[in-house]
Amino acid sequence: MDVNESEKLKDFKKKYFKIASVHPLYNNITSTNGNIVFGRGSDSPKIVFIGEAPGQNENKIGKPFVGRSGKLLDNWVSYLSLSENDYCILNVVPIIPLNKEKGIRPPTPEEINYFLPLTEKYLELLSPKLIVLLGKSAASIFDKTLKPGETKDYKNTKLFFIYHPSYYLRNGGKGFESSLEKLKTILKENKNDLK
Ligand code: URA
Repeated sequence: MDVNESEKLKDFKKKYFKIASVHPLYNNITSTNGNIVFGRGSDSPKIVFIGEAPGQNENKIGKPFVGRSGKLLDNWVSYLSLSENDYCILNVVPIIPLNKEKGIRPPTPEEINYFLPLTEKYLELLSPKLIVLLGKSAASIFDKTLKPGETKDYKNTKLFFIYHPSYYLRNGGKGFESSLEKLKTILKENKNDLK
């Protein structure tokens, strides 16, 4: 079941949107005629990928990772042989962060913290076996010291860290291979535990 259509997440999604719509960042939605970005993917995933915040394409369409970074992430998903029911993608901040010149900026720690109780509840409802942290903003809510390719146990799940797809895109679209290979091995080794 898609997270956006999910009965299980229906009330949570309402609450999520309500809380997002009273944050100052919501002005960016109004001024750009954009969207609060919920997740995309399965409502009972074995893996959740967590990114940073929506960019211009995501703001327009209302789904996470639908631009250039999303293409790279989709390639990773194919390489990992994940099917649609296996994964979900979300961000630590669901609204596009803009600077005074209307350019994209990273979300501030305060913005990430504001949404943290929602991110935690979201993860509790999705209850994945593995959480893939895409970059530092996502890692900041769990463990900032994780290095690319590293894993860590967390509650009933496992964390895995890889740099954000946009980092690799800035570096010629490569450099992620060994981390991705590690992730593939983890998935293979934990095949039976991962539902
Ligand atoms: N980068 C992110 O972190 N999230 C998106 O949804 C798009 C780009």
